[in-house]
Amino acid sequence: MKLAVVGAGWAGLAAAVALKAAGATVTVFEAAPLAGGRARRVDDLNMGAIDNGQHLLLGAYTETLALLKQLHPERAVSDLLQKTPLHLESADGTFRLKAANLPSPFHTLWALLTARGLSWHERWLATLMIVSLKQKHWQAPERLSVAQLLEQHHQSAELCRQLWIPLCLASLNTASDQACAQLFLNVLRDSLDAPRAHSDMLIPRVDLTELWPQAAAETVTMRYRHIVRDVCPTPTAVTIDGEAFEGCVLATPPYACARILKPSENSRASETLMAQLEAFEYRAIATLTLQLDAAWHPPHSVLLLDENPSRGHLGQWLFKRPQANDQVTVVVSDAADFLKHDRASFVDKIATQIREQVQRHPNSRGHSQLTMPAVKAHRLIVEKRATFAAVPGLQRPHNQSPWARLSLAGDWTDTGYPAVLEGAVRSGKQAAKTLLEALRGVSA
Ligand SMILES: Cc1cc2nc3c(=O)[nH]c(=O)nc-3n(C[C@H](O)[C@H](O)[C@H](O)COP(=O)(O)OP(=O)(O)OC[C@H]3O[C@@H](n4cnc5c(N)ncnc54)[C@H](O)[C@@H]3O)c2cc1C
Repeated sequence: MKLAVVGAGWAGLAAAVALKAAGATVTVFEAAPLAGGRARRVDDLNMGAIDNGQHLLLGAYTETLALLKQLHPERAVSDLLQKTPLHLESADGTFRLKAANLPSPFHTLWALLTARGLSWHERWLATLMIVSLKQKHWQAPERLSVAQLLEQHHQSAELCRQLWIPLCLASLNTASDQACAQLFLNVLRDSLDAPRAHSDMLIPRVDLTELWPQAAAETVTMRYRHIVRDVCPTPTAVTIDGEAFEGCVLATPPYACARILKPSENSRASETLMAQLEAFEYRAIATLTLQLDAAWHPPHSVLLLDENPSRGHLGQWLFKRPQANDQVTVVVSDAADFLKHDRASFVDKIATQIREQVQRHPNSRGHSQLTMPAVKAHRLIVEKRATFAAVPGLQRPHNQSPWARLSLAGDWTDTGYPAVLEGAVRSGKQAAKTLLEALRGVSA
């Protein structure tokens, strides 16, 4: 079987690995010079290998973890990912939520009931919400936003500010008043109402291309720097820029699919698909990687930053890079407002934000080494279309396209997740399965 994959992001490569395992000869077309797509390595002159964006994985990413083990049989997962049991803490230490060493779901309930920085009443409200959502099997009305869900469950403004809004932004990259409650609940369900390990926070110890995309790419024929212009599905083949394949997984983002998909004839189903592809809106994420003058160990490897846009304090999360003791990253999700700010003074303002907040952390008192050292170099990467806007009522296409020989993959397909790595991997695997079944059907 001569099959093609267009797009070497996490979805396309997950599909390629599955097609190859089924005995196909697989060619992957990729516009960029390396594998990984929106989760890839960037080579920086001053800092070496960094990433286009800081990524946090969860223990609930079971398919991603399985792929990682499959492609690196000789390496321990702990060499590739740094694992921390669920632990959310503000940079100034006033807020902390830490899972207990108890079986699920008590690890989460304990974390909520003992959260630092919330009143007893707020902790109780948060716990009641989780218990009630579990009783309702994590189901929300179709058009409900996250803000409406939180209001229905009487979550106070402080509880939303400290906990739910940062979690919503981190997982859906969409403001809570616009974000889809059901997608948010799916993430909570799979990380909290699951074995304790599913709520673990996993930070890559190696760059995102090395994590597994590169190893996947080495198992198939890669055509890097090939910007595909035409994907034409017909009843007998799929031609890609004129070259015929028996089948294809199209794994580019929706806007690229809409541009390059050129069916020989249109049907109602193909028109519906095109309309769905055009309907996606996107949200930006900005990632600032800082090279510090000396090693620095913040109070915790992931810290929540308090935003104050009027002072240019736009950072939301601070990560210590496990790869280097003198590098940290700052993440700004749903970064449309960020794009309006003056980039020149951005780094100074973020550095001030970190120093001011970490200085107030209880562990910092009397420990001058907890003050962040001077910034020696930086790299700011703004991915304007980092994720699709996870709004309620979005109609997301299935893996099966209107054409038997073409299946669709990407975090934007109907995975039940927002735009996340695990959604991309699951979509890629499912797209490969769908294509193989459809090809068996046409050849029978
Ligand atoms: C800054 C940032 C931070 C993020 N943080 C997190 C996080 O912490 N946790 C998490 O789970 N997820 C996170 N995500 C989301 C995650 O990165 C995506 O869900 C995932 O990478 C999507 O993979 P994909 O394969 O669906 O799409 P993509 O990665 O977009 O892959 C599509 C590929 O198609 C290629 N392509 C496009 N057009 C063509 C063409 N015409 N010809 C050939 N190739 C083409 C592209 O170059 C790309 O390689 C983040 C994303 C960003 C950008």
